[in-house]
Amino acid sequence: MNHSSHEGSGGPKSVTCPRCGKAFECRLAGDCWCASVDVSEAIRRSLAERYDTCICRTCLEELIEKEDRSQGFPARL
Ligand SMILES: [Zn+2]
Ligand SMILES: [Zn+2]
Repeated sequence: MNHSSHEGSGGPKSVTCPRCGKAFECRLAGDCWCASVDVSEAIRRSLAERYDTCICRTCLEELIEKEDRSQGFPARL
């Protein structure tokens, strides 16, 4: 099942979401899609503390929604 595993540099990296276990693509190098998502500083910080990769878009949007509803409270992951 090793389907063309090129080690290209700069391409999106397939990572597993540490939260839901789903595979998604992320560029850890800064120009990742998640960098352009409007995530609050609080969420970014707790993500960085908890995980060493990004989380998938679904989880990220979930967190943003949750934080929206719990105004003033720190986001719970
Ligand atoms: Zn996820
Ligand atoms: Zn990312």
